[in-house]
Amino acid sequence: MTSTNATPPAALALTDVTLTYPDGDTRLTALDHVSLTVAPAEFTAVVGPSGSGKSTLLAVAATLLTPDGGTVEIAGQDTAALTRAERTRLRRDRIGIVFQQANLIASLTAAEQLEVVGHLRGDRPGAARERARTLLAAVGLDNAKQRRRPHQLSGGERQRVNIARALYAEPAVLLVDEPTSALDHERGAQVLALLAAVTGAHRTGTVLVTHDAALLAGVDRILTMADGRLTGSGLPDQRPPRTSRRASAAAWADATSGTASTA
Ligand code: ADP
Ligand code: MG
Repeated sequence: MTSTNATPPAALALTDVTLTYPDGDTRLTALDHVSLTVAPAEFTAVVGPSGSGKSTLLAVAATLLTPDGGTVEIAGQDTAALTRAERTRLRRDRIGIVFQQANLIASLTAAEQLEVVGHLRGDRPGAARERARTLLAAVGLDNAKQRRRPHQLSGGERQRVNIARALYAEPAVLLVDEPTSALDHERGAQVLALLAAVTGAHRTGTVLVTHDAALLAGVDRILTMADGRLTGSGLPDQRPPRTSRRASAAAWADATSGTASTA
């Protein structure tokens, strides 16, 4: 879809999306006419109890599941029009995914987790190594930790590797599923702050889903999900002042200068 006006497209636009799963003789409605638009550099949290459809929402936004009805647009592109191969490419190039299960490869170092992404994209090995180093340093992993394998890292550090890897391709959309569920409060708060900084610096449209509303101080808005529906919206209780968010985004941009977004 091409737009003729000057407004840049939303990073993510779900419109009237319905998704059902087979359930015995009937179908279970996991997403019930859900609409959600996220702008570049906007950090949206979706909170709801277990089973309310949060992971399904992210899987549809990630084009991993095709909805029964409604549309999914990524950076202005309607994904229904794409072939399977085009969807795979879109996912690789435009969508960063941080899922709750530690989906790092056990035999690879932190740096290699990112270099694999570069390899799949056809980047030169030297360029991939440099990008991996820059992103991992920016999420707080020093040289020694970049050489460690997942079992030699803490849960918080593994989640940082996950986030750095999701950013490798400069995604338009960053989808994050329960990133703090295995972390203590302080580490969880640090991961949230990192995601807020990343969202500002890379101008990703970020959607974080969680059952735990406790750690959402840095987000722009909180939506509520129940029984497959997005029911309400609000602002976080303790939103940091814009100046501090801008400062952390600037610090991030500094740390990743050269390979970060040109925005
Ligand atoms: P949440 O992430 O909020 O816990 P999910 O999106 O995982 O919720 O699940 C929403 C609903 O869909 C739940 O009732 C769940 O049991 C059901 N569900 C999820 N995945 C599948 C699947 N692959 N097949 C059938 N039902 C599923
Ligand atoms: Mg879930």
